[in-house]
Amino acid sequence: MRVEYRLYVCTVCGHTKQIQTNHLGSCFDYCHGCSWKPSFGEGVPMFGRTFRKFVYDTRTPEQIKNSRVWLFAVTYVNKDGMRTLFRANQGRNHFPTLEAAEIWFQAVSNNNSNDILEEYPNREIRPVLCYPHGDAVGVYFD
Ligand SMILES: [Zn+2]
Repeated sequence: MRVEYRLYVCTVCGHTKQIQTNHLGSCFDYCHGCSWKPSFGEGVPMFGRTFRKFVYDTRTPEQIKNSRVWLFAVTYVNKDGMRTLFRANQGRNHFPTLEAAEIWFQAVSNNNSNDILEEYPNREIRPVLCYPHGDAVGVYFD
């Protein structure tokens, strides 16, 4: 049977990956976008890691490059009165689900002193439009 690398997309976070398989439907594999965050979406434990469901990606490389994905980020209002990202604009700081963002938000609120938290007033979770690799397109919010 012929086995080829085909492009698949993670159903949890939208990351794409070449997977060697002869299946054209779905399969489970390690996702570099979200498998390192086991609790952040549906997953299957395998080989000590959390595998994600991938589906065959029918988009062209150009369509993928130009695609955008909605993730969730913790935001606050900065000194200039602008709502912006609580953490650096990197994919690893944005969450694929609201639930995952809320878990992180609670942990930050519980594990930091009020002195630190007061520097980041009006914290809220907001949907954030991101490039395929997870960095936000823009860092300011309405
Ligand atoms: Zn993923």
